[in-house]
Amino acid sequence: MDFEFSPEEQKMLQEVRAFLKSEITPELKAESLAIGYCYGGQLGREFVRKFAANGWLVPNWPNEYGGLGASAMLTFAIKEELAYIMPLIFVAAHMAGPTILHFGSEEMKKQWLLPIARGEVEFALGYTEPWAGSDLSALTIEAVDQGDHFILNGQKTFNTHSHVADYHWLATITDPDAKRYQNMSMMIVDLKSPGITIRPLITMAGWQTNEVFYDDVVVPKENLVGEMNQGFYYLMAALDYERMFPMGGYRRLFDEIVQYAKETVVDGQPLSKDPLIRQKLAQLAIELEANNLIFYRLAHIIDEGKIPNYETSMQKLFATELAQRITNTGMDVLGLYGQLKKGSKWAALSGQVEHRYRWSVVETIYAGTSEIQRNIMALRGLKLPSK
Ligand SMILES: Cc1cc2nc3c(=O)[nH]c(=O)nc-3n(C[C@H](O)[C@H](O)[C@H](O)COP(=O)(O)OP(=O)(O)OC[C@H]3O[C@@H](n4cnc5c(N)ncnc54)[C@H](O)[C@@H]3O)c2cc1C
Repeated sequence: MDFEFSPEEQKMLQEVRAFLKSEITPELKAESLAIGYCYGGQLGREFVRKFAANGWLVPNWPNEYGGLGASAMLTFAIKEELAYIMPLIFVAAHMAGPTILHFGSEEMKKQWLLPIARGEVEFALGYTEPWAGSDLSALTIEAVDQGDHFILNGQKTFNTHSHVADYHWLATITDPDAKRYQNMSMMIVDLKSPGITIRPLITMAGWQTNEVFYDDVVVPKENLVGEMNQGFYYLMAALDYERMFPMGGYRRLFDEIVQYAKETVVDGQPLSKDPLIRQKLAQLAIELEANNLIFYRLAHIIDEGKIPNYETSMQKLFATELAQRITNTGMDVLGLYGQLKKGSKWAALSGQVEHRYRWSVVETIYAGTSEIQRNIMALRGLKLPSK
């Protein structure tokens, strides 16, 4: 197998690298980190607009919608480059946008895809409710059809980035009497709409997710995505797009841990000569390589015009559990120094291991827990019968 990019693609990747090196500042990193690797802050928005101006936010979208008509392979490589320097989550460009591209009307594509491709608008995911997480068919928030608009009432929870995003990518019940999977619609809601209240929930990783309350919120009919009551299927596709995890951020942490092991002497012996540490680092290097193959396989499937499904569950599960193994090994290698936070005089690797250790816990929960990814693999990947 030959995974080499063409000379033109390699040139673009070099340009991306040079851009990231010159544009990403410590202040920008600190801002995005504080809001959960989101670009909704002022510096983040400026950066993403510049980044997107080159077509790099959605390279594989058609030119008419702001892309470069490039391959998903190249798009994934650009995502990895960015994640290595500064992990950022893109809800509009990488989750909602591709779903609109597949299922949205021509009017909806014209209205939303260009601003998304230019990095001008960001969305927040509005799926989970207090009694509906793993099983999203149990949603209760309701949108009542009023002719040219809907009136929405209900509550969402764990809706990350809602306090800094512009729009809610919302799953809502539009036909409460219909059977499951035929009663839901997706819509785009302006988060500044009267009747929306956003309340913070602080995660163990230190950043904010939210509860979002809807109280007689008016949403124009044209904000309905695709067909009414088909939203469950669009939501499943959007989840497939969400479950594609660039590992650049953890790959960089791994590289730094390896470097630390090479440079650090404990009790007169370099850590790099400790047989247990060598075994663990070698194992992680193998798993990172395996993840790469699973990740780029998703791009290959997209390049064939399909939406990967159980394959995304495979990658999400493998990547996020690998992230936990990397941070665990980081703790082993750094010893007690690993537990110190950024800013502490004795924190090794700028407190990265401590921070990522806490962060990696939530990675196996959002976008569907590990149990749910294994269920999908069993059912759709292995075709085992449903319970
Ligand atoms: C930090 C963070 C950020 C998030 N951001 C967002 C966001 O932006 N937007 C959004 O909509 N949601 C978001 N979520 C919600 C997340 O997607 C849900 O928490 C997740 O899907 C699990 O749902 P739940 O919390 O209701 O747990 P439950 O569904 O109640 O699950 C509880 C436990 O039971 C297990 N379980 C459930 N069903 C099964 C089953 N059939 N088989 C085996 N085990 C099962 C689960 O694996 C889990 O361990 C976020 C969550 C977190 C923690």
